[in-house]
Amino acid sequence: MIPLADALEHVLARVPAQPTVEVPLAEAHGCVATDDVVSSETIPAWDNTALDGYAVRAADVCVPGAVLDVVTTIAAGSAGEDPVGAGQAARIMTGAPMPPGADAVVMVERTSMLDDGRRVLVDAAVAEGTGVRRVGDDVRAGDVVVAAGTVLRAGHLGLLASVGAVSVRVRRPVRVGVLSTGDELVEGGAPLRRGQIRDSNRLALLALGRSSGFEMIDLGLVPDDEEAIEAAIRAGCADADALLTSGGVSMGDFDHVKVVLGRIAEMRWMQIAIKPAKPFAFGLLDGVPVFGLPGNPVSSLVSFELLARPALRRAAGHVDIHRRRVRAVAEEDLRRRPDGKTHFVRVTLSQDDRLDFRVRSAGGQGSHQMTALAAADGLAVLPDGDGVAAGADVEVILLDG
Ligand code: AMP
Ligand code: MG
Repeated sequence: MIPLADALEHVLARVPAQPTVEVPLAEAHGCVATDDVVSSETIPAWDNTALDGYAVRAADVCVPGAVLDVVTTIAAGSAGEDPVGAGQAARIMTGAPMPPGADAVVMVERTSMLDDGRRVLVDAAVAEGTGVRRVGDDVRAGDVVVAAGTVLRAGHLGLLASVGAVSVRVRRPVRVGVLSTGDELVEGGAPLRRGQIRDSNRLALLALGRSSGFEMIDLGLVPDDEEAIEAAIRAGCADADALLTSGGVSMGDFDHVKVVLGRIAEMRWMQIAIKPAKPFAFGLLDGVPVFGLPGNPVSSLVSFELLARPALRRAAGHVDIHRRRVRAVAEEDLRRRPDGKTHFVRVTLSQDDRLDFRVRSAGGQGSHQMTALAAADGLAVLPDGDGVAAGADVEVILLDG
């Protein structure tokens, strides 16, 4: 058995980085920017009002009760170039440019219209600059608005749009193909014949990959037949940047994925010192990374989490490739036997009134038992030994959602 860290290092060293591409902002959500983006514009581009109200000269309203002549109305979007002189005001709407001469805005709530709106009573004393958003108080031309390596979230896209960017250079999202193998597997809701089970890994891996930011391709269900497996793997590699197979990589008589990959790809077969997900295969077929995940549902998802996901995130340009880990208090004994492996236990997580995390087992921990997997918020990491007693601290990897 090899340590998980060695297996991960092996994989990380071999998964190539995605090429960079220029994509429209609308397609860039979740992508990693490869270059600094420098704004050519200053935002706000001109002084404008933060309020609906009246643009005034502060000197005219230094005490409450001033009455001013309303000389114009400035809507958001209008140029607002008519000046405001002494004793005058302009009715103005949020975002509209400050008219020349005005240096403050009184909110409409502190005013009363007189003479059908030809004059206004200002019921407040307003200092210079009140209610004004200054030119450049957000971005100045020449500012780096997005640094290389930034994962583009909604806020970044909004910021880029605001400075007039229409596209951004990113690492191309990883396209990941998923195929299930096994003669026992069936799709759909028809009653099972004795010996059959339903294909659950493919759907779960597709969802997990999507939520990790990858473009997932469903390559279907393939029988335990060497020719069919080879054809599916080759087609997948032609179409995708990486491939996930589930099943057929352990020691069984019908583990043909292992045979096929062993013949056509440069594979390394690993026994990793972890439970679940001890068997794991990784290699390259025509330069395309292939992850041979175990068939047991819990094992396949745990291998994806611990090995495939970090490597594919690295390929997509992420610096932060791992799930968050937190320290939590075990609310009950999380027992295990010494066996040379690190155990990953499906747990549910809660927070006590001091906001400290607490964990409990999510249920049956067999590698075929999906109920606990579905209920789990995280994987508690139990190093080799006897486990963790109630009340002790344990490290927890936070799962999706
Ligand atoms: P294998 O690695 O092919 O021997 O599969 C190990 C176990 O996982 C067997 O019990 C398989 O029936 C089960 N299994 C394999 N693939 C899937 C799948 N796609 N969905 C659910 N269970 C699977
Ligand atoms: Mg199988």
